[in-house]
Amino acid sequence: MNPDALARAESLIATIPDFPEPGILFRDISPLLADAAALRTIAMAMAEPYVGSFDVVAGVEARGFLLAGAIAVASGTGLAPIRKAGKLPRPAGSVSYDLEYGSATIEMTDDLVSGARVLLVDDVLATGGTLRAGQQLLAQLGYTLAGTSVLMELTALRGRTVCGDVHSVFTV
Ligand code: AMP
Repeated sequence: MNPDALARAESLIATIPDFPEPGILFRDISPLLADAAALRTIAMAMAEPYVGSFDVVAGVEARGFLLAGAIAVASGTGLAPIRKAGKLPRPAGSVSYDLEYGSATIEMTDDLVSGARVLLVDDVLATGGTLRAGQQLLAQLGYTLAGTSVLMELTALRGRTVCGDVHSVFTV
């Protein structure tokens, strides 16, 4: 992957202090998504270690959807959405997990073939709870985890101790 193209893409991620609550440095990928070259660069970089070993990309609602779509098209694979509870008309699997305050539930359909090799993606790895839940959901439905990939890893939060080996394009 071209280091200059990657550096340029990283420079397009905006850091917004105190959103959605005081003390949080929110990583906003919207400017990167709006740039054709940067979007293509990161779509390829997120898939790079797993090329040829996945059939479908699963993205976690909501920003994971956007990246999953770009990666799937760039890789010539399908796409599967992992949604927050209550959004799917016929969920087949469900996993609940703890957030800093409260809990969340994610759901998925069983439209993939049994054993499908799935690349799980999201925009940011923070504490790792979301991706861990995504991994458990894929296992619950009988799919094979081909890999887990994020655009940006917040290393201080040690999320990979929760969700295992993750490919992160950018680390801060
Ligand atoms: P976690 O489950 O703690 O790893 O949180 C990951 C999820 O929360 C991802 O879906 C991210 O979109 C979102 N998230 C957590 N922290 C941030 C942050 N600092 N900036 C943007 N998104 C974040």
